[in-house]
Amino acid sequence: EALFSKPVRHIAVVGAGYVGGPTAAVIALHNPHIQVDVLDKDPRRVRRWNSPHLPIYEPGLVDIVRVSRDGASARLRDASTEDTPVDRIPNLFFTTDSQTSLAKADVVMLAVNTPTKTFGVGGGRATNMTTFDAAAKEVALYARPGTIIVEKSTVPCGTAQRVRKMLDEVRPGVAFEILSNPEFLSEGTAVKNLMKPDRVLIGSAKTPSGRRAAEALANVYAAWVPRPRILEVNAWSSELAKLVSNAMLAQRISSINSISAICDKTGADIDEIAKSAGIDPRIGSQFLKAGLGFGGSCFRKDISSLTYLAESLGLPEVAHYWSQVNSMNEWQRDRFAYKIIQRLEENLVGKKIALLGFAFKKNTGDTRESLAVDVIRVLLQERPGEIAIFDPCCLSEDIMRELEPILDATNRERVHVYSDGYQACQQAHAVVVINDSDPFRQSPAQQLVKSNIDTVARTPYYEMSTHSTHVALEEDMVIEGSRFS
Ligand code: NAD
Repeated sequence: EALFSKPVRHIAVVGAGYVGGPTAAVIALHNPHIQVDVLDKDPRRVRRWNSPHLPIYEPGLVDIVRVSRDGASARLRDASTEDTPVDRIPNLFFTTDSQTSLAKADVVMLAVNTPTKTFGVGGGRATNMTTFDAAAKEVALYARPGTIIVEKSTVPCGTAQRVRKMLDEVRPGVAFEILSNPEFLSEGTAVKNLMKPDRVLIGSAKTPSGRRAAEALANVYAAWVPRPRILEVNAWSSELAKLVSNAMLAQRISSINSISAICDKTGADIDEIAKSAGIDPRIGSQFLKAGLGFGGSCFRKDISSLTYLAESLGLPEVAHYWSQVNSMNEWQRDRFAYKIIQRLEENLVGKKIALLGFAFKKNTGDTRESLAVDVIRVLLQERPGEIAIFDPCCLSEDIMRELEPILDATNRERVHVYSDGYQACQQAHAVVVINDSDPFRQSPAQQLVKSNIDTVARTPYYEMSTHSTHVALEEDMVIEGSRFS
């Protein structure tokens, strides 16, 4: 039998994070005959994946994990999974024992983190590939010949080629095939996106064995994804396409936010503008909501990666064009923080400001690149009495870790994370809604905000939040809570 053409029986996913965990769970759900091992070097994370309290919050995730991990007879809420057999033999495992799994796997998916690194005096940004390269090296050491290695992480263009060279050095003469299979899920809707992906992109070397490997991976997806949605392209296209998708989504957010600044200085209404522009099918209405901008671990990083690529290819104009998307995003957040200060009569001394929502967008517990951090950074310069943070989706240790770089001996005691939204808002001079996750909408804090605004303060209720929700970044962004008690 030709190499790379065997049906896949065993998949190892390296990295049990926001991408690795849900992706593995959905693959396992739809392929009961494939054993899926998810490997992570963080034993705490693995323990939580093996417990009822998963380390990440994603709507619907617990249900599918229970089916494949526990063989539970779960009734799945998503209509698309009606045909999924329940009551089954477990085929999803979370473990730290990577050597054993890597030695058995037909396919290894690398889903480790690829953060940004800064370099040079000008603070240039590029992808930090240290973690990815270390994981790839581990695979090179322990995987058996004929393993298909898949880049699931978002990586710079040319990584497949680079990994190929690395494998040749570590295991000379051993046949491996490297595929690019970037992930397009959004946090907060990961399960939905994985269950019904718009597309599955598989990039390979255009050689007979590359094509066979791509076909083997396509067959895994074909268990639930319609064939026309599985696109087979070359590895460079696949790697670049992922960066382009994120860059273009982020670009829309920065574009509409730039217009919101014009609206602020004129009588134009940004929601009316977005509606009017978005109704044109050539433009479309999604990602056209003005707000605090984009946060999270992906958009800024992927634009930096694109910019770096353009620079290194000798295309400074292209690099400058895309870097503006990030600059506009940062400016928007500062602009918002200064508006809060303005609304509080340019004086924050002794005042309490409650921030509701800390995750980088609604319906996730992910605090990485939280929009709130920049807002808090600017507010702290004005020496407020207290910044009170409440987000029922986030762990307080994650919130504090994210804030660590902006805290020092003088401002540390001003920042508090509350587990009770009501207490966070009590005696606040202003309540700022950073995002409005579903659990938060139903929480007493939201009720408190609404009832106080409507019945006590009689200040109109204005929301402002990340791009994914209703937003008004206009005059009245801050809920005046001075009469809260
Ligand atoms: P994450 O930080 O949540 O998860 C990465 C995990 O990999 C961590 O748990 C870490 O402990 C583990 N890890 C690192 N090195 C390891 C090794 N050698 N062996 C075993 N485990 C190891 O990251 P994430 O958000 O899941 O992102 C993963 C990749 O997917 C990134 O490249 C990211 O850009 C990309 N991506 C993320 C999203 C998203 O929404 N988060 C969407 C699409 C693509």
